[in-house]
Amino acid sequence: MAARVPAMVLTKPKTLEAREFARPAIGADDGLLRIEACGICGSDYEQYEGAQPQHEDYTPYPVIPGHEPLGIIEEIGADARQRWGVREGDRVAMRSGYGCGRCEACARWEPRLCARRGGTYGYTDVNKPPHLWGGYAEHMYLSPYSVIKKVDPRILAGVAVMFNPLAAGLSWAVGVPRTGPADRVVVLGAGQRGLCCVIAAREAGARTVVVTGLARDAEKLALARELGADAAIDVERAEVVEAVRAATGGGAEVVVDTTPYAPQSLNHAVAIAVRRGRIVIAGLKGLRPAQDVPVDDIIYKELTVRGVLSMPVDETFRAIDIIESGRYPFEKMHTLSLPLAQAEDAIHLLAGHVKGVNPVHLAIVPGAPRVSLGS
Ligand SMILES: [Zn+2]
Ligand SMILES: [Zn+2]
Repeated sequence: MAARVPAMVLTKPKTLEAREFARPAIGADDGLLRIEACGICGSDYEQYEGAQPQHEDYTPYPVIPGHEPLGIIEEIGADARQRWGVREGDRVAMRSGYGCGRCEACARWEPRLCARRGGTYGYTDVNKPPHLWGGYAEHMYLSPYSVIKKVDPRILAGVAVMFNPLAAGLSWAVGVPRTGPADRVVVLGAGQRGLCCVIAAREAGARTVVVTGLARDAEKLALARELGADAAIDVERAEVVEAVRAATGGGAEVVVDTTPYAPQSLNHAVAIAVRRGRIVIAGLKGLRPAQDVPVDDIIYKELTVRGVLSMPVDETFRAIDIIESGRYPFEKMHTLSLPLAQAEDAIHLLAGHVKGVNPVHLAIVPGAPRVSLGS
């Protein structure tokens, strides 16, 4: 067992440094996870860029990023073993938030809202002992108030770790807008979360599911069809509102905006939503404000516009069940696993900065073979 734990530390925007930390001593109440994979998403890119709005329980830096960890319990105290029902060698998925365990929010398993000293893995000050508070590392500390669930060890780590975007899809496309079989669902954006919204809408039995993407997303749009979308629209070839109205027969009860850095998508969503429609906004806009939002349409159509940041714990657990069920080809969504030392490359890849690669889902997998990215 190594005494030093390699990790990547975000010391300031756009600066990830390789560092090593002492392996923490584990007591009766906590544990240590050996990271198998850490999923990355748009939030990782915004965190890296320094483009995230200030949030009271987020430390911008220095932190070990990585809020979507999956791993093997390497060491665990007797009390924690009992509380979580897991032991050394078990594979577990982790929720990003950990809490004080004593307040009302923690009782609801919503440690993000913890009133006392909760926090979020990947966004906790690295100077706070025992330092290993993020998934861009070979090991991560398990706070006594972590929310964890066992995951079938037979699933490829890069695929199993997709429980995080899928939980988001279940929440944003179904849970929050209360989607049912009578609803038409339009998902703006065909990234990992957009595709997971398609799966979620299908699981809910939605009447029609339509997804949109850019011309360079052709493969993602084809995959969306395979995952159950009735139509997949390239918004660079058709006027998005018209094309979506044609595909849905007049509009949608539910519109989910997962597009990053595209504030005008709110205008599209308002135009697509039918009377009493529900718009869920999930794609961060990099602090860019929306322009010319037709407010009167929101009133006349009595629309609900709701922003979403995380998801309830039930959806995390359900996502794991759905991945384990094998009902959807999640392996087709997992594009690439990169080693820890290439965390920065992974972020640039996900952001679409690497020519010729337009990945759906990426994971950082300690020990994965180095990926050559050409010139
Ligand atoms: Zn994420
Ligand atoms: Zn709490």
